[in-house]
Amino acid sequence: MTLSARGPATKAIRPDCPPSLEAVQNIARRVLAWYDQNRRDLPWRARPGERSDPYRVWLSEIMLQQTTVAATIPYYQRFLARFPTVEALAAADLDETLRLWAGLGYYARARNLHACACAIVDRHGGHFPQDLAELRALPGIGDYTAAAIAAIAYETCVVPIDGNVERVVARLFAIGETLPRGKPAIRRAAEQLAPQGRPGDFAQALMDLGATVCTPRQPACPRCPLRAECAASRGGEPEAFPVKEAKRQGRLRRGAAFVVLRDDGCVLARTRPASGLLGGMTEVPTTEWTHDFNEEQALADAPALLRAHPPRRRAGEGGRLQGGGGGRQRSSPLVAAWQRIPGVVRHVFTHFPLELAVFIAHVPADAEAPAGMRWIARAGLDGEALPNLMRKVIAHADAVQESGVANPVEGGGELTPCPPAPRRGAHRSR
Ligand code: SF4
Repeated sequence: MTLSARGPATKAIRPDCPPSLEAVQNIARRVLAWYDQNRRDLPWRARPGERSDPYRVWLSEIMLQQTTVAATIPYYQRFLARFPTVEALAAADLDETLRLWAGLGYYARARNLHACACAIVDRHGGHFPQDLAELRALPGIGDYTAAAIAAIAYETCVVPIDGNVERVVARLFAIGETLPRGKPAIRRAAEQLAPQGRPGDFAQALMDLGATVCTPRQPACPRCPLRAECAASRGGEPEAFPVKEAKRQGRLRRGAAFVVLRDDGCVLARTRPASGLLGGMTEVPTTEWTHDFNEEQALADAPALLRAHPPRRRAGEGGRLQGGGGGRQRSSPLVAAWQRIPGVVRHVFTHFPLELAVFIAHVPADAEAPAGMRWIARAGLDGEALPNLMRKVIAHADAVQESGVANPVEGGGELTPCPPAPRRGAHRSR
């Protein structure tokens, strides 16, 4: 589907009519002039006259995927301070990379980041390749990131197309094909614009233009350097581009999270499997997250805790320890008093929303962690690779503890009232 631009369109660019060389040069000249005056000062960007560092370009581009600039900056700065080079990142443990990434979300990016650093050191001697195909062959680098590194770090004549650039180009050419089907048309249109001179600045200029002027809502057309050629602006409905399919939200999954608090201030935790959702991250134990979760039966999946007993001394044997070998410590099952706290913790993953019911148990300081789990001191939680979902679970448990009431104050948009208890045997799914 192609929406036609309304009104006089003598100078507007049309998707079915390639712009002349003169028009392309005009666009590049004006976009670059605008960029020289309005470029965003970002910590990963080279200043005018400096060369861009491919490591910094790559690191920032991976972090910026699905993440705002404001959220990215502190993570980028911490990463760069800890791993100033790709060699330093490759030499680090994946666990440390995940810990530094915790809170930024989309954790497959962190695993790929580490794998990519290792591949660059192993395959390319620590130097980022310039060739697009070689870049794309690296873990976690797709078409967009390869083009961004090639254009910004190596001045390759290519236009990387992120969401901002996609919007600017779709509007400039009034490309009305619904996304994602319309992506090839946008890519072809963007390719026509790539200038021979300053392709790195041109790419960053389009990104900045999309982020600050050609915004998703209420684009500031009067101060846009592309206004004279922009077909969507001339048509009077720039916000109609790009045309997107209505988002389909995945089916709700539900589960339970178990917050076990030891009297010495430790929390029970475990590491998720290395691959898959939140792979390699730290979590409090949870049930599976399913469509037909049954809250009444959740406690069947609660962690089986143990209690340590010191070796006993045999009566009448001069205090010799029982069990031989110097007296082994014994353990016995510990029956935890689980409390289901009000509300649920909500989180939205890319493909589905999740609701977790939270159970708390207080256990004595000599409680042992079940196999595959460990105790973490509260003060040490910040240093763990704890994803946002788990931070919400712990914060919810803390809020209830601090309130000291059965129904904690709801807030933050994350907590909802406790759903009515299901009838025994009834599975709920939404
Ligand atoms: S003129 Fe308006 S719609 Fe067109 S690119 Fe500029 S800001 Fe976007």
